[in-house]
Amino acid sequence: MPSSTQTTQSAAWPEGVIARYLTDAGKALADPTVAVDIHGNSSGGSALRVTCRVCPWEYTAFGPFGTCFTDEYVAKAAADDAHQRAQAHAEKCRALPRPTA
Ligand SMILES: [Zn+2]
Repeated sequence: MPSSTQTTQSAAWPEGVIARYLTDAGKALADPTVAVDIHGNSSGGSALRVTCRVCPWEYTAFGPFGTCFTDEYVAKAAADDAHQRAQAHAEKCRALPRPTA
């Protein structure tokens, strides 16, 4: 990947992140790393972890419990839930990243 001329818009996502929602503060700062991340499930289950990179908020979307649901349905429900929660938190999160310099 070419560097230096790239803007922060194309900064690589952390490993395992499957979706990102820019937070309200990230929008104001034009910093795409100020975001809520949805992490892919590496253990094979359908649960998805959602974390805010700036504040301590986090959420785990499990999908519905019960033997009457197919794995596919549970995975879809967990993903829908994860995206909705990430979107909702990103819209209202105003936490600022700590300056590194
Ligand atoms: Zn937050």
